[in-house]
Amino acid sequence: MMKKFDGIKNTLNSLAYSTSVIRKASTKFFILKIVLSVVAVALPYAPLFLWRYLLNALVTALSGGGADNLINMIWVFCGLYCAVLAAEQLLKSLQSLVDFKYQDQISYYLDNIMVEKVSGVELAFYDSSTMRDTLDHSWQVLNSVQSMVWSLSDIFQTFARMIVSLVMLASFSLWVVPAIIILCIPSALGSRRLSKREYEDEKKFSLLRRKQNYFKYIFFGSIRLEIKIYGLTEYFLDKYRAAWQEKHNEEFRRRLFAFGVQTLSLLLLTASELIVYGMSVVRLAARKIEVGDVTYYVSLATGFRQDFAAFFTSLDKFSKQQHELDDVRKFLEFEPTLEEFGTLIPSECPEIEFRNVSFKYPGAEDYVLRDCSFNISPGETVGLVGLNGSGKSTIVKLILRFYDPCEGEVLLDGVNAKEYDAVALRRTFGVLFQDYSCYSLSARENIAMSDIDRKEDDAAIWEACRKSRADEYISTWKRGLDEPMTRKFEEDGKDLSGGQWQRLALARAFFRKAGVMLLDEPSAALDALAEHEIFLGFTELASNRSAVMISHRLSSITLCNRIIILDGGRIIEEGSHEELMALDGKYAHLFKLQAEKYQKEHSA
Ligand code: ADP
Repeated sequence: MMKKFDGIKNTLNSLAYSTSVIRKASTKFFILKIVLSVVAVALPYAPLFLWRYLLNALVTALSGGGADNLINMIWVFCGLYCAVLAAEQLLKSLQSLVDFKYQDQISYYLDNIMVEKVSGVELAFYDSSTMRDTLDHSWQVLNSVQSMVWSLSDIFQTFARMIVSLVMLASFSLWVVPAIIILCIPSALGSRRLSKREYEDEKKFSLLRRKQNYFKYIFFGSIRLEIKIYGLTEYFLDKYRAAWQEKHNEEFRRRLFAFGVQTLSLLLLTASELIVYGMSVVRLAARKIEVGDVTYYVSLATGFRQDFAAFFTSLDKFSKQQHELDDVRKFLEFEPTLEEFGTLIPSECPEIEFRNVSFKYPGAEDYVLRDCSFNISPGETVGLVGLNGSGKSTIVKLILRFYDPCEGEVLLDGVNAKEYDAVALRRTFGVLFQDYSCYSLSARENIAMSDIDRKEDDAAIWEACRKSRADEYISTWKRGLDEPMTRKFEEDGKDLSGGQWQRLALARAFFRKAGVMLLDEPSAALDALAEHEIFLGFTELASNRSAVMISHRLSSITLCNRIIILDGGRIIEEGSHEELMALDGKYAHLFKLQAEKYQKEHSA
């Protein structure tokens, strides 16, 4: 029983919540929608009244009572009836126009909230897998909030019409109303049970459907070769048949249940309608009511039955959407921890210092960096070397303050990085990540994205292109910098290779007048020679800038002033290439290994 009340409480809660969301999206359209819904509730009763009076008047006239005004009355009836039909049509058109505007407003409102939330949260937010799942799912089902508005409006309209019809039927006979209600209750309960079962079954069915499809499409995929070689056709066919049978049986059971509930419901609803039919005819025969009254009450009963069915359909729809709303709601109500920043403005090329930094990702058990201390002087180029997972990229993320150390400090010019203004701090850095972004915009925008206010500065863009050697292909294009990248929006857009995209992203990093460059494996898609040239150009051109470079190709790293070797999150060696080779430790070992491999590949 408690559970039932909880369900009702949840539904009411969701109704209140979605109403408040859609009202906030646009109060003007919210009120307009209510007004139109109220009119839509009332208008269908007008033709019923008109027919009732016309028929009653006709019968009176034909039975010899006051036919003088009959023609006039028919004219008035026709006029009013046409006016009602026109009003109904107008209302429909108006509703669809308002629906379109309102729907767009709601989706604009929700998109804005989501984008604001997502851009405001600290990066650590994405490390919570539950929150990330909620976010992904919220995006997918965001539109369900809109659909809920429409279900809500249907629920309101059908419910209001049911009440009005019952009140009107009460004037016909007081006890007919409780009789109808009693007959409708089992049908209402059955309908709710059916919808609950459908929701629960849907998850089971989707698994069975996936299973069935897997064993069906296995014959069309690359596995078919193995199926032939190992003679597995019958084996997989059996699995397919079993999956089909299981799904078929389950589905048939569900349909049988639905058939039972729907048939019973129809019988009870028809019975309730029949009560009104029977009573009307009996009263007509007893001359207690007139012919017009019969059509009037019968139409009310039919209308009630239709609204009753529509009410539960809308309620079912709403319940399904309610589950989706829960996720959206979780996200909309989520108050993110915003990044903490101070107000200091960093110098153009600050000294960066890691002082006893230890770090583990939020929610993770193990430390990724342990007691790391090093500094990068202005103008110095530092290479980070280590096996995958040794913590190189994490150092870059800590420098950018995407995360804060768990222990120790990151300092800029001797002051904790937290004391600096967010925008100013990140302006200090030019960054190129492994997974750099490719925008479906012009080459110009792709490059100038790092300092978008200067996107018309052609000279600076070309200079950045020359440094990254992207000018070699951009200069051959008809529209040059204004050539659109990708064919997403323009059919003749350029399709770039991985290496070409990389050069464009590198140009983006160069374009930004940043004091410190952070290059996290910028060269994955470039060949060794191209990478070496770019790193060389970079170290020469960047004499007045500091740089942190990560690359697996140690030949490029040799160009750095200083190299830091990481192993399992700890700094194990540090020095220039020559010093590290003389040390004959891990770096020297890795370097010799790569050099041998390179020689073998090139002598082969
Ligand atoms: P590298 O750049 O040296 O390959 P990373 O700094 O990317 O190493 O990663 C170091 C360790 O931190 C790895 O074990 C990696 O799985 C883990 N890691 C990286 N990003 C996250 C994250 N967002 N959440 C949890 N663990 C992470």
